[in-house]
Amino acid sequence: MPSLKNMNLSSKIFVAMLLGGITGALLNLMGTPEWSQIWLIDGAFRVVGQVFISLLKMLVVPLVFVSLICGVSSLSDPKMLGRVGGKTIALYLVTTGIAVTLALTSAVIFQPGVGVNPVNLVEREIAEVTPFTQVLINMVPNNPVAAMADARMLPIIVFAVLLGLSITLSGEPGKRISSWFQDFNTVIMKLVTLVMSVAPYGVFALIANMAATSNGGDFLAVGKYIVLVIAVLLFHALIVYPSLLVLLTRLSPRMFVYKMRAAMMFAFSTASSNATIPVTLESVEKRVGVSNKIASFTVPLGATINMDGTAIMQGIATGFIAQFYGIDLSLSQYLMVVVMVIMASIGTAGVPSVGLVLLAGVLAQVGLPEEGIALILGVDRLLDMIRTVVNITGDATVTTIVAKSEGELDQSVFRDPRAGQIFASAQKDA
Ligand code: ASP
Repeated sequence: MPSLKNMNLSSKIFVAMLLGGITGALLNLMGTPEWSQIWLIDGAFRVVGQVFISLLKMLVVPLVFVSLICGVSSLSDPKMLGRVGGKTIALYLVTTGIAVTLALTSAVIFQPGVGVNPVNLVEREIAEVTPFTQVLINMVPNNPVAAMADARMLPIIVFAVLLGLSITLSGEPGKRISSWFQDFNTVIMKLVTLVMSVAPYGVFALIANMAATSNGGDFLAVGKYIVLVIAVLLFHALIVYPSLLVLLTRLSPRMFVYKMRAAMMFAFSTASSNATIPVTLESVEKRVGVSNKIASFTVPLGATINMDGTAIMQGIATGFIAQFYGIDLSLSQYLMVVVMVIMASIGTAGVPSVGLVLLAGVLAQVGLPEEGIALILGVDRLLDMIRTVVNITGDATVTTIVAKSEGELDQSVFRDPRAGQIFASAQKDA
């Protein structure tokens, strides 16, 4: 067994996850005594977990902005941007379409909502899905600084792409600004590495808190729903993405998962694709071998508009709630669910639980009782963590496919298991 000191960062994060789960589960089994509630759950775990999430989120806006400017301003052919954008968005839509179709089909076959005994009906606020026209309007920032202050990804992406293009078109002054941004990018990447070196502590605290505060009764009541959501999420991650990768790139899915495992663990612990952007970006660039030109654009875009895991949960949950209330959905209602879920995944940010909030909008559109959400509320936290892993894996898969098709994937980096020793360098610094 390697000693703790010699372990690489990915293994440390994994051990931290396990230890966190065990600690939290033990506290849970002891009935969360008062001291643990005060000192750990509302104390140390909460502070360390939230500080870690804030550290990650702190990186997102500057990283996306600077990295995207570097990517776009290094494009020799501005037409490439349109082509890459078209391919990426098309693939994101197709994978989300596959995800929701799989989800609905499995809900129809396995009937998770039949014979459910709810333990815990909680009131839930009903959210509206932003209409698609508004999503389009909101994409262009009327004030880029405000968009950054609110961390709204789509307007930040639009602004950075336009600024990057102008830099390319500006001759000498453009070159000077571009090299400044390249330096800035290196500095921010260093910051990412520094933040990652404290990840094991953050991950431990987040997982321990979640395990200590989960309620086993909720899990039993909707057991079939949970098993089905997890099974379809796994199917999508282990069959659909690898098939696409093999079919469209001929790359090894095993190596791909190996290279992405740190990002997956971050996604699991934070349940936020947005907060995971720094790690996803660094993993696809340094470990998978995708150029910054492609990744800086496709990763933040994916974290914002591509949520296959969320689509799977929403599809199964819709079937589940319809079955629970004994409502038969017609074919046109199923199609409506597919369209609504795809729209919802475009209009939402990758932050914890938003998938569940938006489910209310999907249910309202097909005329199902929104209160049904209360049935699955208690177990959503765990599912949120797993679906976020699927969400970011989808972003990375599409990124790799697009990069390969553009000749922007360095295959020697991809094949080398030790390439892009980001985590080793984090260890050295730690
Ligand atoms: N937590 C998910 C994400 O950040 C979104 C969701 O399904 O709630 O990707």
